[in-house]
Amino acid sequence: MARTVLVTGGNRGIGLAIAQAFAKQGDRVAVTHRGGGVPGAGGAEPGFGAGGAGQHGSLFAVRADVTDAASIDAAFTAVEAELGPVEVLVANAGMTADTLLLRMTEEQFTDVVDTNLTGAFRVAKRASGKMLRAKWGRMIFISSVVGLAGGAGQVNYAASKAGLVGVARSITRELGSRNITANVVAPGFIDTDMTAGLSDDRKAEIRKSIPAGRMASPDEVAGVVTWLASDSAGYVSGAVIPVDGGLGMGH
Ligand code: NDP
Repeated sequence: MARTVLVTGGNRGIGLAIAQAFAKQGDRVAVTHRGGGVPGAGGAEPGFGAGGAGQHGSLFAVRADVTDAASIDAAFTAVEAELGPVEVLVANAGMTADTLLLRMTEEQFTDVVDTNLTGAFRVAKRASGKMLRAKWGRMIFISSVVGLAGGAGQVNYAASKAGLVGVARSITRELGSRNITANVVAPGFIDTDMTAGLSDDRKAEIRKSIPAGRMASPDEVAGVVTWLASDSAGYVSGAVIPVDGGLGMGH
């Protein structure tokens, strides 16, 4: 059964791969971007070619900044008008601002938490009303292996990603009886812009620490996310599913 899906930060990287995977299986898919547009998408705004959005595997692009509740509300309203209420929410938008604890400013900490954790809270809250009314919903939060294992230079990022586990598990307790699931996907090292800046030496070091011996493609995360939204995963909730080639075993 085709569903309406919203992926935040769906204009590139893991978010775009997730959106394309849902579109490929016939769902109606909206993606948020912050003004740069989305490859191959139709959308609500001039310049994004309004016709055909959500059909024939295309994506419906809406502008939203997850740090701004009003822009999230406007994006959901546009998606609801075009594709119907959001049934599957993928809170994917995220950022890093890595530096060692001693040097990390309070702003670097709060900016990352505001985007990665509070941003996910904002979209989950906005999605929950319609999911409750429909008595069906799927929320998937994109965390990180770093959320549970920690990462040097990533106190802000790890805190934000660990927080998503508490969010998903609390939502599971609150909304689980209404056929709404909330799960966390915890990727390891995925080949996107976020990891493109790592030096070759650092990448080689990372590969050595991963049992699978390689980084993953965004599509390998997308497969787990589409499964979590499927009917086969209806009894999976409050779970943290690693997609990390074995890097975080035991967490
Ligand atoms: P990218 O840096 O390639 O993409 C990040 C996405 O988030 C972009 O679409 C970006 O939009 C969006 N975004 C950032 N800040 C905001 C904001 N305030 N409001 C709306 N959108 C925003 O990252 P990845 O694709 O690699 O990462 C996607 C998710 O996966 C993130 O949550 C990340 O933490 C997580 N992750 C990534 C891993 C990796 O190895 N790559 C590993 C583990 C987790 P814009 O294009 O406008 O900047």
